[in-house]
Amino acid sequence: MISNGDRIAVGLSGGQDSLTLLWLLRERLRRIPVHYEIYPIYIDPGFEPGFGAQLKDYCSQWGLELRLEETRHGILAHSTENRENPCFLCSHLRRKRLFEIADDQGCRKLALGHNKDDLIETLFLNICYAGEICTMVPSQSFFQGKFTVIRPLAYVDETVIRKFAKENRFPVFDNPCPTSKTSKRKEVKEMLNRLYQDNANVKGNIFRALSHVRTDYLLKDHSKRRKGSGNRHESIQSRESGHDAPSAL
Ligand code: SF4
Repeated sequence: MISNGDRIAVGLSGGQDSLTLLWLLRERLRRIPVHYEIYPIYIDPGFEPGFGAQLKDYCSQWGLELRLEETRHGILAHSTENRENPCFLCSHLRRKRLFEIADDQGCRKLALGHNKDDLIETLFLNICYAGEICTMVPSQSFFQGKFTVIRPLAYVDETVIRKFAKENRFPVFDNPCPTSKTSKRKEVKEMLNRLYQDNANVKGNIFRALSHVRTDYLLKDHSKRRKGSGNRHESIQSRESGHDAPSAL
């Protein structure tokens, strides 16, 4: 995922996943003989009260300068001009801006804090709301290889990250977006948590299934991306809810 000399943009959300990621990338520099540079970025969606200034202060305590970008992406996504799901537009605009800023900073890698639970939730979101079986992957190339998105926490359980963040007293920023408490991702998360409570093997089995796909036992695609049924036929590559309590990209 990471090579000597990389300049890595790190997309922060204010959530504990991305702070854990930032902490790990910074800490790892002290422990391994691979040198890289990290550039944290936060795209503020524009809701009040925001926490960009506090996040910037926090990064500076770690010796890192946060590129804080104030936008109105979230407001626009909730306006009457937008007829899509607000998270769809908001996260699309955020991703676009993240790539632009990463490019501006000479970074060819963009690190995001998605964890194992996010990958599973995205699988179910894509099945239910995009009609596709796919999710986010740990390392993914974009724009003919110009950028690589890396997700170093892709194999880490959310509970492990929460525990780590708590032990290290990472700050908790509340996402002021009105959709953050009601998103489809949240519904899927609650459904999955019920399954996990009933059987402790379920999460591991779903995650394992992501790399054990028996395509012979799936239907052939004759639809060529059907229109209709009210679904937007576009995979959800990033977290629908931009902030995990605040959640990520
Ligand atoms: S929950 Fe996050 S992604 Fe969705 S609209 Fe609000 S700020 Fe944007």
